[in-house]
Amino acid sequence: MTTRVRPLPEPFRIKMVEPIRLAPPDQRRRALQQAGWNLFLLDAEDVYIDLLTDSGTGAMSDRQWAGLMLGDESYAGSRNYLHLRDTVRELFGYPYTIPTHQGRGAEQILFPELVTRALARRPDVQPVFISNFHFDTTKAHVEMAGARALNVLTPRATDTADPYPWKGNFDLDALRAAIAQHGAASVAGIVATLTCNSAGGQPVSMDNLAAVREIATRHGIPVVLDVARYAENAWFIRERDPAWAGASIAEIVRAMFDLGDMFTMSAKKDGLVNIGGLCCFRDDEDLFRAVQARCVPMEGFVTYGGLAGRDMEALAVGLRESLQQEYLDYRIGQVAYLGERLQQQGIPIQTPTGGHAVFVDARRMLPHIPAHRFPAHSLAVALYLEGGVRAVEIGSLLLGRNPLTGEQEPAPMELLRLTIPRRTYTHSHMDYVADVFGDLRRMAATLPGYDFEWEPAVLRHFTARLKPVACDGGAAAAQSRESAAQAQPA
Ligand SMILES: *Cc1c(COP(=O)(O)O)cnc(C)c1O
Repeated sequence: MTTRVRPLPEPFRIKMVEPIRLAPPDQRRRALQQAGWNLFLLDAEDVYIDLLTDSGTGAMSDRQWAGLMLGDESYAGSRNYLHLRDTVRELFGYPYTIPTHQGRGAEQILFPELVTRALARRPDVQPVFISNFHFDTTKAHVEMAGARALNVLTPRATDTADPYPWKGNFDLDALRAAIAQHGAASVAGIVATLTCNSAGGQPVSMDNLAAVREIATRHGIPVVLDVARYAENAWFIRERDPAWAGASIAEIVRAMFDLGDMFTMSAKKDGLVNIGGLCCFRDDEDLFRAVQARCVPMEGFVTYGGLAGRDMEALAVGLRESLQQEYLDYRIGQVAYLGERLQQQGIPIQTPTGGHAVFVDARRMLPHIPAHRFPAHSLAVALYLEGGVRAVEIGSLLLGRNPLTGEQEPAPMELLRLTIPRRTYTHSHMDYVADVFGDLRRMAATLPGYDFEWEPAVLRHFTARLKPVACDGGAAAAQSRESAAQAQPA
């Protein structure tokens, strides 16, 4: 008998419900075949519990819904924009606010401007951005702006069994080395991703962020905060860093933002809205004006940036709600609860669990499937077929090919992300997901790998069509050990 942990009850009651339904097994199999074994191509109605992403999938509060009724849809100078701008200034300390339709909208108007500045300093060298880990659209926008994206995540993040509390941290030596190698003038920006999505929603410590700030200042490099999950990162700092144990989430958030020069935000995460983003500046008014000029043709006029007035009102309310201690205790507690239920059944996961997701270590769970046959994708398919649950691969399929050689290199980790939308599912949904994993564990050795039927050139995981291919135990396991060894150089 295992003891059952008791999660904190949801700090809300439900006043509107949206029915969901578990399609029968043969219908799930047919749907997935038609979708080319790609879960992104499923109709959402064929999904029972959707853990694809926490992005834009959360539930708004009654106050946010009330805010929608206060939309001022003026083309310019909407009062909802002013409310949003004032909220950003108060909570984060950044006076210059550009709303955008979502996080990537902020990236597409900011990064070309930072690249232009780097090229003005060093026209002969390709600019780089250095990050703990670039989110996939962030990397795409860095590359579309003509720069290169370098990741210098702490190597401790790749050992999923290591209970290190700050797996989102920068490897500071690697950061210094990258600056030395490329020359400070060619570093267009240091991008601090809080929490670090790609490492498993893992937090960056305040000390680490302060050290990054210090290095950046010494070299005259701007610090861009990528703050989709600012509130969750602050919660971890309060929980794990004794120096901040007595502080409020709002105080910690403010201290984090004080260490950046500008931020891009996907408000679809901790902003608690279904659509929206922000691009904000602390004191560089010139840069703000230049980015505003890009906003107009790309996102929309500078006081709406692709959002309806009512969307900006809901966001202004959501930014504040995300800082509530009870909400965050429940939110991150629910993620931890699912993680504990999985671990009780012997499912290997990234530990400790992160803020928005549980990451299952598919390399350890399916050792017979080599990296180029996408073990975490195989697990995602099985999870859907068995339980109607949709999750997402974060591994070699997401990583893509080496842009220089065209080779499929093994990702440092092969993870299946169970992403928990905010305020949307109850703990009993988490119990159901954990129970399905019990079945998956028993059938793990029989699961196939996957190969491409059609492979697009960029962001292939969204639209690729795949097919199952048998992975025989012996040879494949040897190959997998080999690729694991390559992925983790000494
Ligand atoms: C989601 C996300 C983005 C992109 O934001 P969208 O709203 O999806 O465009 C950028 N960075 C991080 C860390 C994210 O999680």
